[in-house]
Amino acid sequence: MKPFVLAVFYVMVVMLPLALAWTGAYPPRSFWNELATGAGLLAFAIILVEFILSGRFRSVSGRTGMDVTMRFHQLLARTALALALIHPFLYRGLFGYQRPWDVTRQLTLTTDFTALTTGLVTWILLPAFVVLSIARDQLPYKYETWRWMHGLGALAIAGFGMHHTLHAGRYSQDPVLGFVWIAMFAVAVASLLYVYLAEPLLQRRRPWRVASVRPVSLKTWEISLQPQGHAGLAYHAGQFAWLNVGHSPFSLHENPFSISSAPAEDGRLEFVIKELGDFTSSVGQIKPGTKAYVDGPFGNLTVTGRSEPGIALIAGGVGIAPLLGILRQLHNQKDVRPTTLVYGNRIEEQIAYRDELEALATDHGTRIAYVLSEPSATWSGVSGIIDEKLIRSLFSSGEHKDWLYVLCGPPAMMEAVEKSLIGLGVPSHNILSERFIYD
Ligand SMILES: Cc1cc2nc3c(=O)[nH]c(=O)nc-3n(C[C@H](O)[C@H](O)[C@H](O)COP(=O)(O)OP(=O)(O)OC[C@H]3O[C@@H](n4cnc5c(N)ncnc54)[C@H](O)[C@@H]3O)c2cc1C
Repeated sequence: MKPFVLAVFYVMVVMLPLALAWTGAYPPRSFWNELATGAGLLAFAIILVEFILSGRFRSVSGRTGMDVTMRFHQLLARTALALALIHPFLYRGLFGYQRPWDVTRQLTLTTDFTALTTGLVTWILLPAFVVLSIARDQLPYKYETWRWMHGLGALAIAGFGMHHTLHAGRYSQDPVLGFVWIAMFAVAVASLLYVYLAEPLLQRRRPWRVASVRPVSLKTWEISLQPQGHAGLAYHAGQFAWLNVGHSPFSLHENPFSISSAPAEDGRLEFVIKELGDFTSSVGQIKPGTKAYVDGPFGNLTVTGRSEPGIALIAGGVGIAPLLGILRQLHNQKDVRPTTLVYGNRIEEQIAYRDELEALATDHGTRIAYVLSEPSATWSGVSGIIDEKLIRSLFSSGEHKDWLYVLCGPPAMMEAVEKSLIGLGVPSHNILSERFIYD
C-alpha cells in the first residue's frame, strides 16, 4: 500500500466508530453533548490504532518510513490526549438518574459507578502515560524498563478505556459499534502479542552468531553476524533491523541499527555501532560466537527500484552505516550511475572505512568529499559543516533537479541539509532520510 492509501485507510478506521454513532437510530442531543461523545469516540479509536503505529509492522513503517511512522504515532498520541481530556468537560445538562422513558439516554449520562471509574482511571492514566513518553530520556530508567512500562501502560489504558466505552457510552450500546470496538481492541492486543511473543518465537528459529567485532573508527565498532542454519535476512541495502546480542529472543534488550552490509554478501550481516549508552558502549566486549537475534528488515531508506540518473549520499558520523550498505550494493550490482558521498565528521579519527571508501572512489568512480568541523592543521579536505553553501558547490543545478539524495546523520545536520536541498530545487520525493532519534 502506498503512503496515501495507508493514510486514507487510517482515517477510515479511526472515523468508523464516529460514523456508526452518527448514522445510528438515536434521537439527537444538543451540539455540546454530541461533541463530547464524539471527542471520546475519536480519542479511543486513535488510542487503539496507536498499537499498529508502533513501528514494528513492516506493512506500515516499510511504506512511510520509520521516522514518519513514529512522528505520526507521537502526534496522534497528543491528539488523543487532548480529545480525551476535554471529553468529560463538554457535556452539558445531562445529569441525574435515567428516566424510565429515556431508553436511549437522550436526557442523562450513565451513573454506572464501574463504568465511570474506568473512564476516570483512563483519563488519569493517559496524560501520565503521554508525559512519561515525551520525557523518556530524562527519566532515570533504562530504555528497556521504559519499553515495558510503555507496553503495559498502553494495555492498561486500552483495557480501562474499553470497559468505559462499552459500558458508559451511549452509542456503543449498539451491537454493531460494540462489535467494532471489540474487533479494534482485539487487533491492538494481538499486535502486542505479535511483537512480544510471536516475533521472538520466529526469531528463535532463526538464530545468528557473532562472527567478528572490530573497531572501525573512534568509539565506533563493526559487528558482523553469520546466520545459523538459515539463509539469512532478505533486505535492501540501507534498511535497519532490531539487534539482540546475547539475550533471549523474548528479552527487551534489542536496539535498532542500520545494516551496513549489502545483500549480495552471502548471508553475512554487518552493523556499524557508535558508543552511546549501555549496549552500544559494551559492543567492543562482545565475544565472537555469541548468539544473536535479528528482527528486520525495517525502513524505506533504500535505492532499490529508484531510477534517478545519479545518487548523492550525505552522511554525518555513524550515519555512514546505511549509506555504506547502499554504496556497496551499487558497486556489487555494477550500477553505472554517478555517485557522490559527502561524509561529515568532527575530527579525522572519526572517519570510518576510509580505505574501503578510497577503493570505491577508484573502482566505482564515487566522488567523495570528507568534511571535518574541527580539522587539524594538516587536514587537506573540506573544513566546516555540511550546509547549503557546500552542497551548492558540490552538485550542479542539473544534479539538484534529477538526482536522488539519501541522508543519514545527526538531527541538526539532517534538518539543515533537507532544508537546503529543498531550497536548491530538489523535489521532496527525491530526498530519502533515516533518523536515529525520533524525538
Ligand atoms: C532506525 C534507527 C537506525 C539506527 N542505526 C544506528 C546505526 O547504524 N549505528 C548506531 O550506532 N546507532 C544507530 N541507531 C541509534 C541506536 O539505536 C542507539 O544509539 C542505541 O539504541 C542506543 O542504545 P544504548 O543501550 O547504547 O543506549 P541507551 O542509553 O539505552 O539509549 C540511548 C538512546 O537510544 C535510543 N534507544 C535505545 N534503545 C532503543 C531501542 N530499543 N529502540 C529505539 N531507540 C532506542 C533512545 O533514544 C535512548 O534514549 C539507530 C537508531 C534508529 C532509530
